[in-house]
Amino acid sequence: MKKKTIEKTKKKPTDLIYKKDAFDDYVLWKSMPSKLLGSTEERLKDAGFKDEYLMELMSLKNKTKNLIFFFLNIFFFWHPRKASILMYHSVDDNEVVFNVWPEDFEGQMRYLKKKNYKIIRLKELIKKIKNSERIDKKTVVLTLDDGFKDNYTNAFPLLEKYNFPATIFLPTAYIGKEMNNSQNIPLNIMTWNEAREMENSGLVDFAFHTHTHPEMKNINLENFAEELRESEKLLAENLKNPLKIFSYPKGRFKPEQVEYIKKTGYEAAVGTGEGLVGAGDDLFFLKRNFIYSKGGLSQFKGKLGPVVEIYNFLKIWKK
Ligand SMILES: [Zn+2]
Repeated sequence: MKKKTIEKTKKKPTDLIYKKDAFDDYVLWKSMPSKLLGSTEERLKDAGFKDEYLMELMSLKNKTKNLIFFFLNIFFFWHPRKASILMYHSVDDNEVVFNVWPEDFEGQMRYLKKKNYKIIRLKELIKKIKNSERIDKKTVVLTLDDGFKDNYTNAFPLLEKYNFPATIFLPTAYIGKEMNNSQNIPLNIMTWNEAREMENSGLVDFAFHTHTHPEMKNINLENFAEELRESEKLLAENLKNPLKIFSYPKGRFKPEQVEYIKKTGYEAAVGTGEGLVGAGDDLFFLKRNFIYSKGGLSQFKGKLGPVVEIYNFLKIWKK
C-alpha cells in the first residue's frame, strides 16, 4: 500500500482566490428552488458553477455537516437493531471528490474493530431482512462501488488485515481499463485477475453495477436490459459466484428499471439515500451511507448509528 505524503493531499482548498465569489454564489444557490432539481452537485453544474466553486461549496457544507454530526454523536449513542451499509468509492491518496485516503480507511477499520462492530456480508444482511431475522446491534456492511483498482491495492490488504468482508459493484465494460468519475477524471479499474484474487480470498463478493455505468434516466428499458445481459455474461464468465444484487449507478433509476431487475431474478438493490436498514425495509431501495475523507471521523461515526437518521430527519424538517 502506498504511504505517500498524506499531509500534502489533505490540503483544504482554502487558498482559492474565488472564496468571496464562492460565498456569494452559495447565497444565490441557497435562494434557488431546491425541490425536484436533482442533487446539489447537479444544480450547481447546471447553474454554470466551476469545479473550484463546487469544491469550495462542498467544503463549506461539509464543515457545517461535520459540526452537526459532532454534536449529535454526543447525545445519540444508543444502537437500534438495524444495520448501516457503508458505501465507498476510490480508496487512494488522490484529491478526487468522494474518495477516502488509505490512512483514513485504515483508521475507520481500526475504529470498527475496536468498538466491536459486527461486519457482515451484504448477502447475509439481505437474507436477514428477507426472513425477518433479528439484526444485531452495531451491524455494519461494507460496499465499494465502481471497482477502482485502488480497492485492490489499498483497501483489500486492510480488509484482510482486519478480516472484514465487503461487496464490490463492478461496471464490467471498464475492467482493466479506466472509467471517468463524477468529475470526469479517469481512474483505473481493477482487472479480472485482481477481482478473482479478492473473490478467492473468501472476503470479497462481487455484484452488478451495469456494463457501461450509464445515466440511468437517459436509457430506455431495452438499453437497460442489454446493460444487464452484458454484465451478467462477463461476471459469470470471469468470477465464481457473483451476487444477484444491483447497485444503481449514481443512485438513479426509473421505476420500470426497478421492476425489470425484480422480474429478472435480482435479490435486492442498493441506492444512495442515507439511513439505517432493518426489518420491513424494501429490498430494492436499501439505504447506504456515503463515506468520504472530507466527511471526517464525526460523519463516519454518526453514519454507523442513529445519528444519520436523526440528521436526515432534521433535513426533512428544515424544508
Ligand atoms: Zn458507480
